[in-house]
Amino acid sequence: MAVPFADLQLQYQTIKSEIDDAIAAVIGDSAFIRGPHVDAFEQQFARAAEAKHCVSCANGTDALYLAMAALKVQPGDEVITTAHSWISTSAMITHAGATPVFCDTDGSTFTVDPAAVEAAVTPRTVGIIPVHLYGQPADMDAIIAIAHKHKLWVIEDCAQAHLARYNGQAVGTFGQAATYSFYPGKNLGAMGDAGAIVTNDAALAERMAMLARHGGLVKHQHQIEGINSRLDGLQAAILSAKLPHLAAWTEGRRNAARRYDAGLNQVEDVTVPQVAPGRTHVYHLYTVRHRRRDALAAHLKAHGVQTAINYPTALPFLAAYERFKHRCEQFPNAFRDQGQILSLPMFAEITEAQQDEVIGLVRAFRG
Ligand SMILES: *Cc1c(COP(=O)(O)O)cnc(C)c1O
Repeated sequence: MAVPFADLQLQYQTIKSEIDDAIAAVIGDSAFIRGPHVDAFEQQFARAAEAKHCVSCANGTDALYLAMAALKVQPGDEVITTAHSWISTSAMITHAGATPVFCDTDGSTFTVDPAAVEAAVTPRTVGIIPVHLYGQPADMDAIIAIAHKHKLWVIEDCAQAHLARYNGQAVGTFGQAATYSFYPGKNLGAMGDAGAIVTNDAALAERMAMLARHGGLVKHQHQIEGINSRLDGLQAAILSAKLPHLAAWTEGRRNAARRYDAGLNQVEDVTVPQVAPGRTHVYHLYTVRHRRRDALAAHLKAHGVQTAINYPTALPFLAAYERFKHRCEQFPNAFRDQGQILSLPMFAEITEAQQDEVIGLVRAFRG
């Protein structure tokens, strides 16, 4: 049986009429840029994220840039982030004018190690960007304590963590702002690029919105120099149609993760995802570790099971960061993990039969 990594077509079929009606409404209104569909989604998403304000934008990468620009990051500033993430997190630190400072992960959760963050703080540090990687919250109590001690801002990168919680509190409500991606494959996905920033700070929300809209909220009144990073009406309406299903989809992912855990946690050489106490993981990805990862991936592929490596090269070791001359020994956990991580098929609608196929193949692997 072939098992896809994700199945966006299947998700669409389950809510086809809701999506089709949403698209037709936007076309009927010709409300393609901004307009009532975007305003409505911003309000709905702020509520879902348990934040006061939501500023939509073109994608999750711009969200990071806009949040940092609004916090007035300057050349010479240092921003601390994790060695293990998608490149947007660190690249936007550079594009906002600052220098990314990488920290290793904690060795079990794939999220940043607070001790490494504390050790990386210098007089030039202005902020920290923890990433709730794969859907598991980073250690926010420890990170917020460091931020308070050194007077740093915190931007949570929630691109993979819609509805995740830390000690019962919604991710994205711990720091000054939090960024979301609605890339189609994310837990809440548009049918194209889309993103948002949430915050409880009204002045910061206004500045982020201005930056995203050519520097002004009123046409031809440019208060500052901004960029063009808007959520379009079609994507907003699609996201509004999907948002009411997000909690159930998240439960589907969590149930699927429990089934994988039960089937795989006794298997020799397989390390299933480790969830730290108090953290509600939303399993954007279900990522195991295996010492012969490439052989396992080839075995699964040969039997029709799609997997992915998120990500094959940790950020400090990418060609883009050659200028820093980072060494493997500085980031031992991220370095080990880049050679061992394998993401298995994970989506809300995955069937027990599909999961049993994956579990059986992993168990049968004798690489
Ligand atoms: C997807 C992702 C982003 C970027 O989002 P886009 O919408 O693709 O620009 C940023 N950070 C992380 C951790 C992501 O997974």
